[in-house]
Amino acid sequence: GPRLAGRSALVTGGASGIGAATALRLAAEGATVLAVDLDAEGLKRTAAALPAEATGAIAPHVADVSDEGAVGDAVAAAVEQGGGLDVVANIAGILRAAHSTEHSLELWDQVIRVNLTSTFLVCRTALPPLLDGGGVIVNSASTSAEFGHPWMAAYAASKGGVAALTHSLAVEYAKRGVRVNAIAPGSVRTSMTKGLDFPADADFDLLPRIMSPTGPGDPASVAAVVAMLASDDGAHITGEVIRIDGGTHS
Ligand code: NAD
Repeated sequence: GPRLAGRSALVTGGASGIGAATALRLAAEGATVLAVDLDAEGLKRTAAALPAEATGAIAPHVADVSDEGAVGDAVAAAVEQGGGLDVVANIAGILRAAHSTEHSLELWDQVIRVNLTSTFLVCRTALPPLLDGGGVIVNSASTSAEFGHPWMAAYAASKGGVAALTHSLAVEYAKRGVRVNAIAPGSVRTSMTKGLDFPADADFDLLPRIMSPTGPGDPASVAAVVAMLASDDGAHITGEVIRIDGGTHS
């Protein structure tokens, strides 16, 4: 049968891009998915895009993943809906590009809060139900955590934090049957990269080579890796940050 039949999953950022593709892929492989996002309309589009023949399901759940109470409610809703919790994919995130001298403390705090603190909050809240059945967490890092991306100081730091958090949790919970991994995409075609607003005077010679030899990636090809990690095919993979960049950094 399908790889994720009977699994209960929570996917953040499910309204757009990689999160939407992940919700769709997990449900196509049989999981009952709670798709969480701030964007109610986007969540509706994701749920409506699930083919009728899919064996799983997608339920939209509007919430701010940086809000402790809202995260508690979302995890409770996923547990209730799926009769427990097996898979958590932390895909929600934001990107703000600016010179570091133009990084207001507000910009810094917002990016760290949504990308890093929220990932911690969701992990912390989801761990008790995940520990019941031997679950899986997949976080979203980025190649910017490893290779210098100018004008993304807060973003890169947040993703480095996500990678470190992933390593720490993986070791802490390995013997208790919970695997914790992260994806590190390079450039992927989503509204995040379409909306990217570099400083007007940006010296693009400073940009690391961000394009893969085959161009930007497709969200579905990133979601396929999340599904592998979420399934028993990833049984011996924990504490990994898996680069998905089409050879950009090879
Ligand atoms: P996207 O902008 O298409 O989707 C991000 C989603 O997160 C949006 O639907 C947004 O509403 C949601 N979101 C933002 N803040 C939220 C909050 N506080 N609460 C709930 N939902 C919130 O972006 P994407 O490109 O699909 O990115 C998904 C993840 O992958 C992000 O963590 C991003 O940093 C990471 N990533 C993306 C790329 C890329 O090239 N697109 C590369 C590396 C890493």
